Amino acid sequence: MGPPGSGKGTQGERLAELLHVEHIAAGDLLRREVERGTDVGSQVADSLAKGELVADSLVIDLLLPKVEAAAGDNGFVLDGFPRSVAQARTAQHLAEEGGFSLDAAIYLEVSRDKLVERILKRASLEGRADDTEEVVHNRLNVFEEATGPLGDFYRNQGLLHVVDADRDPDAVTADILADLGV
Ligand code: AMP
Repeated sequence: MGPPGSGKGTQGERLAELLHVEHIAAGDLLRREVERGTDVGSQVADSLAKGELVADSLVIDLLLPKVEAAAGDNGFVLDGFPRSVAQARTAQHLAEEGGFSLDAAIYLEVSRDKLVERILKRASLEGRADDTEEVVHNRLNVFEEATGPLGDFYRNQGLLHVVDADRDPDAVTADILADLGV
């Protein structure tokens, strides 16, 4: 977990490579649907462009087959999911049904000013449609309201690791690995 611009994608990819597990990124899967012009893509395009969360069922239907396959294999790093307590409860329920459980929840913490700066820089490098200044502020608000409470949800379960992500990516990766005990 982490606000937009906190480095979830970068850290998720690195962890997956280092731990030999699958990297499953909700935002990447959703953007791919939009690029391919699928039915799901047309249903989510507007929410993505505005920085709003898309319907839980759409995200879960996209993620579930990948998560199930990876759970039966080496495991996975989920990036950008869950993003609300409701999604976390559903995820927990599905995991129990599937006979697997979460090892850890990692929360990448970065100050709001730094996030805006990082995202606008990424906008000029990658040209993501949801990286304009207005949408960025909306995405940060959505994060604070919907995803922020997830910190407590996972803290109560003893799974939460908060990492200072306002640093060099290598230092962040090292901290995450140390927190995970690997
Ligand atoms: P990300 O690449 O993780 O920043 O996600 C990009 C966008 O995809 C978000 O701003 C949302 O519109 C959508 N999205 C990603 N993950 C989720 C999720 N778990 N639930 C709902 N919408 C999501």
